[in-house]
Amino acid sequence: MIEQAEKRDIRQLSLEQLTEYFVQIGDKAFRAKQVYEWLWKKSAKDFDQMTNISLSTREKLKSEFTINHIAVDQMQRSGDGTIKNAVKLYDGMIVESVLIPTEKRITACISSQVGCSLDCNFCATARLKRMRNLNADEIYDQVVAIKDQSEQFFNRPLTNIVFMGMGEPLLNYANVLESIEKITKPDGLGMSPKRITLSTVGIPKMIKKLADDEVKFNLAVSLHSAINDTRSAVMPINEKSPLEELGDALKYWYYKTKSKVTYEYVVWRGINDKEKDVDALVKFCKIIPSKVNLIEYNPIDDGEFQQASEDALNLYVSKLEAAGIVAKVRRSRGKDIDAACGQLANKS
Ligand code: SAH
Repeated sequence: MIEQAEKRDIRQLSLEQLTEYFVQIGDKAFRAKQVYEWLWKKSAKDFDQMTNISLSTREKLKSEFTINHIAVDQMQRSGDGTIKNAVKLYDGMIVESVLIPTEKRITACISSQVGCSLDCNFCATARLKRMRNLNADEIYDQVVAIKDQSEQFFNRPLTNIVFMGMGEPLLNYANVLESIEKITKPDGLGMSPKRITLSTVGIPKMIKKLADDEVKFNLAVSLHSAINDTRSAVMPINEKSPLEELGDALKYWYYKTKSKVTYEYVVWRGINDKEKDVDALVKFCKIIPSKVNLIEYNPIDDGEFQQASEDALNLYVSKLEAAGIVAKVRRSRGKDIDAACGQLANKS
């Protein structure tokens, strides 16, 4: 329908723009605040939920705007409690987001793009073409959906958010930052930025921008190797932005924010499981205060990559710890439903 396509997504408007709109149509400025609260804090899915707004104003809003709310199209539950959502966007595209329950936390793992443009060889999402960036409201809605599931299925609040779903958040910078602003502000979800982690393949220019913007959330970098040749072989982005540049950007990040960084790191048999790989990581970890998450590899089919031996993992942990760096081995969650790191590929 042509008429439908012309309507604007009302959540693309800032509070200031919404205020301008209401004043311009001869209404009160505070109407904007009321509507804004419905749109964000109360996550209204349609204008009729806005019961303190007059019927005629609601009709006017309906004629000009849409609320492009996401819909959880399919929900799968893993034997370990993990929930994977296939989320349908207003244009029919699908992304995935995951609820990960542990004893102490409930974490939402959310997507920032439909597909991904980076060709990390070991990641299932990389096989999906990048179709488009998500809007701030589409990112926010994923968090709200998981927050609701957390309360419904676990009777516990959502505690953490990780941008570790589909896509590269730093290639959708403005929308990701706007969504985080909405998630953290009292007129949104009011969550602490300390409970949010943005994970990136490590784009130096954008890490510097985060530093300049003095963001308060946590930064994680998918490192996987601290040797250029090895890293380039598994993550082509490293050819454009080698480790030296990444290290410089991280120094700048630390200088500006005084926050440490977390490295995500998978150890694969025959790829990065030798002593020289461990030593290179230890050295890289000294650039700025950091900790290492050794993530279990989640096979994504062709067997090119295999999880390294326990001995190799132990060598990493012991050498990192000896150098005073905290290293944790992270076991996968939700593997049986393809909900673990790197497995999000809209397979349903
Ligand atoms: N593009 C961002 C956000 C995605 S986070 C980034 O790369 O950081 C997804 C995390 O899972 C990344 O650390 C990624 O390197 C890791 N990952 C990808 N495929 C994986 C796999 N098959 N097994 C385990 N971890 C994987």
